[in-house]
Amino acid sequence: MTFLFHDTVPVATGTVSVAFTDASLDLGDLAPDDVRAAGLAELASATGATPYLMHQVHGATVHEVTTTDGFPDADGLVTTDVGVALLTRAADCVPVVLVAETGEIGAAHAGREGVRRGVVTATVERLRELGADGLRAWVGPHICGGCYEVPEEMREDIAATVPATRATTTWGTPSLDLGAGVLAQLTAAGVPVVEVGGCTREDERLHSYRRDGAAAGRLAGVVWRTA
Ligand SMILES: [Zn+2]
Repeated sequence: MTFLFHDTVPVATGTVSVAFTDASLDLGDLAPDDVRAAGLAELASATGATPYLMHQVHGATVHEVTTTDGFPDADGLVTTDVGVALLTRAADCVPVVLVAETGEIGAAHAGREGVRRGVVTATVERLRELGADGLRAWVGPHICGGCYEVPEEMREDIAATVPATRATTTWGTPSLDLGAGVLAQLTAAGVPVVEVGGCTREDERLHSYRRDGAAAGRLAGVVWRTA
């Protein structure tokens, strides 16, 4: 496997690594069991941590991970534990990972509904409740505003809540820029952002629902702390 992006961040309690996978792995729930299991095994080997998945439901629920067991209905994960790699999986939606100077980590999955419902902001708030200070965010590859065509009514509906999402495709029709929406939400929350870049629909190294349809794989944002 290869990481599309990988960086390490010194924190008060060790080192945190952030990474985004590419299409060399398919970590989606629709992947054949052996494919996903192989991907998770490769990820465990590469990170030295136990991958932790959430069952993403396009909501704003944030789950605190205190054990490596479980598959909670959630779109945000936070933890203070070492040895667990939090995963946010996406194929056009926006994967976000968060790191605090104080050592807490988080991951969020923000699609259209997640942006509207504020899952990224909710994840930031949950981290701060755990004592997180000096938060930073990494926003992973997602479909860009030039590609994410939606009906005009849908664009106006989402933009009424998060104006930064209002966009136009490269061919001149209504679209949503979910990355711009997430960036606006993180900025409003006082969290500096590293944009990893890349449009999932345009870049064949990435999984894309809009390009590949219902059988599309899923990439992952991954964050883990080592002592
Ligand atoms: Zn694009």
